[in-house]
Amino acid sequence: MAGEPEVMPSTEMRDPAAYDLVIRRAHVFDGHATLPGLRDIAMDGGQIAAISATPLKGRKEIDAAEGWVLPGLIDTHLHFYDVRAVSDPESMRVFEEEELPERLDLFLRHGVTTIKSVGDPTEGILRTRADLAAGTLRGPRLLVTGCGITGRDGHPASTIFGDNPWARERFTAEVDSARQLRDLVHRLADRKVDAIKLLSEGGCACDGSPKYLWRNPAFPVTVELARLPLDFLRAGIDTGHERGLRVTVHTTQQVAAREAIEAGADGLEHGVTIEPITDHSLIDLMLERDITYTPTLWIHDATHPHARENVGRVAAAGVRIVLGSDTFSGRGLFGANTLEEAELMVAAGMTPIQSLTAATSAAARHCARPDLGTLAPGKRADLIVLTADPTRDIGNLRELRTTILNGELVVDTSRSHP
Ligand SMILES: [Zn+2]
Ligand SMILES: [Zn+2]
Repeated sequence: MAGEPEVMPSTEMRDPAAYDLVIRRAHVFDGHATLPGLRDIAMDGGQIAAISATPLKGRKEIDAAEGWVLPGLIDTHLHFYDVRAVSDPESMRVFEEEELPERLDLFLRHGVTTIKSVGDPTEGILRTRADLAAGTLRGPRLLVTGCGITGRDGHPASTIFGDNPWARERFTAEVDSARQLRDLVHRLADRKVDAIKLLSEGGCACDGSPKYLWRNPAFPVTVELARLPLDFLRAGIDTGHERGLRVTVHTTQQVAAREAIEAGADGLEHGVTIEPITDHSLIDLMLERDITYTPTLWIHDATHPHARENVGRVAAAGVRIVLGSDTFSGRGLFGANTLEEAELMVAAGMTPIQSLTAATSAAARHCARPDLGTLAPGKRADLIVLTADPTRDIGNLRELRTTILNGELVVDTSRSHP
């Protein structure tokens, strides 16, 4: 994955003072590897213009003082709208007006510049994406799948939303046939979602049979669930691909993970969490199909002890891992959980560089956004400045000094702590 870092010659034929913004004297992790020595990073028009070992001049300059610059972090799995508090039009309006702006801002304050919602009310999350793009809301770049697609009475419709029918209809779409699933994916693609999310099964300890009981300590109910039939999975994945969209599938057990990959999924949300991966041919299949594994350790680590050892195993085999925290409203802290997820991946046996790659270039590739996640000329100027080295200690992601989104300084903690 690590190639020769692209470095633009610093002796180019242009007025060097023309750069909008230059970060001076920084160690650089470019999304793949650490560049040797100290660099200046120049930004122009929202893009990275140059990365140079010799000084660059900008109309505005930030002295990194030998701190660390890396691509803004990408959290590829979260849910934004509050699954309990949002239960009718009025509570939805209150959430959007009173809760949402602060939550979006939390990401920037933790250095997270892109987030992917993989199951939120379709209309609400599209509205939020539009408001962010228009600048009427302040927050990270938002990628969306719209609602999560599941079978009739599947997870999370009958589980998380079992007693919240209004939200159930909006956060999830329950399909009864492959035909319905195809139509739904077309409708979402027409609304310009960024990806499709299917749910194959629920998340609980079960025996891998098609029908099983869903249990979750946070919910008092026990619900009988069935896995999404294979022809449904194929219909959703094929239609998504026809429309140029990546399709990921929520799985927690080996049998579901295998089905999803064989049906053509681009990635597994959660992967295998409720049981140890005992079937090594499943890991071979992940490599062969070049799929992405999103461990969501933050949500699974405490309740599913196998989740962590499975990540260590698939990472060691060379499967592409991306960061996704599965933070959702009502549980967890936006932004802070993303950093905790990066730390948990290291606790699972990944190196800090692997964890940082999962949070930057690998996540961008997973989201089909080659303009993000890498620091190189021509890429989006989404980046963060830290005061300490995250490649040595992943906990140093918490030492955030500056967040830059689209070449604009959106967080500068050095101002509040001179
Ligand atoms: Zn899930
Ligand atoms: Zn989730």
